[in-house]
Amino acid sequence: MHRVYCVGRNYAEHAKEMGHSGREPPFFFLKPADTVVPVADGETGAIDYPPLTADLHHEVELVVAIGEGGRDIDAADAARHVWGYAIGLDMTRRDLQGEMKKQGRPWCIGKAFEQSAPIGPIHPKASTGLLTRGAITLAVNGQPRQRGDLGDLIWSVDETIAAISRAWVLQPGDLIFTGTPAGVGAVVRGDVMDAAIEGLGTLRVAVR
Ligand code: MN
Repeated sequence: MHRVYCVGRNYAEHAKEMGHSGREPPFFFLKPADTVVPVADGETGAIDYPPLTADLHHEVELVVAIGEGGRDIDAADAARHVWGYAIGLDMTRRDLQGEMKKQGRPWCIGKAFEQSAPIGPIHPKASTGLLTRGAITLAVNGQPRQRGDLGDLIWSVDETIAAISRAWVLQPGDLIFTGTPAGVGAVVRGDVMDAAIEGLGTLRVAVR
């Protein structure tokens, strides 16, 4: 694994619930690679409830793993840079992120904390094919919370790869969290999250 890139507000309904509308240019933040918590198929992963927050949010996302790096990649050529896909959770200390936004300060404290990026196994593109549509959902303790479709990404995976590669040099082992659909909300200790993406199975993570 190299870097973890994340796309902000990449589904219209989620942008709306965060108080924004319209197609803004894509924007990015990063999480340190050691925030990733790998969770095997069929296993219940676990993350510790982080400090300093009273509003830890789940964000289910399609994660793209880069196989071939590059810079200034054309969107039309981006698919060949994809090695595979995983289900990921962009866990967020929403109260801290909100405070930083209000003050015009960096989001790091809201996004880039220990265990903030649980992900399931990476499925090779060779077996899944290109993922451009399909349901993406999250339930907490069996109750549906988030629901969207990969086809509703504002900036497609190809466009996202192109945009990131204009700003940074993509490397094999980079992961891209592509954004979350509407329905984000809080979890507390003892909750169990089931994140699912059509074609990638289910990622189960408990908060302890
Ligand atoms: Mn996110």
